[in-house]
Amino acid sequence: MSGDDPHALAARIAASSHGRRLLVALDHDGTLSPIAPRPDDAHLATGARAALERLCALADVAIVSGRGLDDLVTRFAGLPVTLVSEHGLRRRQPDGSIEQLAATLAPDTLAQLRPRLAALLTDQAGWLVEDKGVTIAVHHRLVPDAELEPTLGAVRALLEAAAAAPGAASPSGPGASGAGGSVQSGKAVLELRPAGADKGAALLRLAGQGSSGRAHRTSPHVLMVGDDATDEPALAVAELLGGIGVLVADTARTTAASARLDGPDQVVVLLDALADALASRDGR
Ligand SMILES: [Mg+2]
Repeated sequence: MSGDDPHALAARIAASSHGRRLLVALDHDGTLSPIAPRPDDAHLATGARAALERLCALADVAIVSGRGLDDLVTRFAGLPVTLVSEHGLRRRQPDGSIEQLAATLAPDTLAQLRPRLAALLTDQAGWLVEDKGVTIAVHHRLVPDAELEPTLGAVRALLEAAAAAPGAASPSGPGASGAGGSVQSGKAVLELRPAGADKGAALLRLAGQGSSGRAHRTSPHVLMVGDDATDEPALAVAELLGGIGVLVADTARTTAASARLDGPDQVVVLLDALADALASRDGR
């Protein structure tokens, strides 16, 4: 079954957000960019950058990703977007100011984990450790299914032990909980991250502030678009706030989102159509 019509969705969002600020929150991998075998090889879908550029003049745009902040800054250089990195751990405003949104993992936790992962994965083909400095992700997209186990189980056990280590997370900044780490599974990836880093909590905070970082009196109409399990809390927040969550998936599945698009190409069509609809609605 194919997904929703992006033009109809855009018209609905433009009508629903009339007279209000519109917040467009977008995941990166699998949403704005086709999934690539290695994270470094992923690039924005054709037309995505131009569509984002137009949309930034008409709405607040935020990228909410599991990627590290430096990586996102490079990818979205020149666009006035808010960047939320590491699943909601840090936020960079369009003016370049950076905030910590959740507790970080204690440096010792990651320092002890790195050599253990390296020892486990040495001589194992296809495994890729992405060290974001504040979180660690282990990708297995290039490992043949038949060769995943028992290594995948061992990786999970190592990450879970690190997450449960005493003092795994250290409170810092607003929203810090001091809770331990947690292990998150995504598409062909396992990631250790602070338990408080969550895309849903990050989206709630974005909805409470404009792109300038100042608190707004009126709540925005929220659109969230994402493709993975890590996006579900944010898709649910968008729906709960009376906005819309859009799942990117080529087949229907259980989700908090009320709409679905087939892939990144359809997301670009939605963003373009949304820019058209907002511009004509507002006579720009
Ligand atoms: Mg994704």
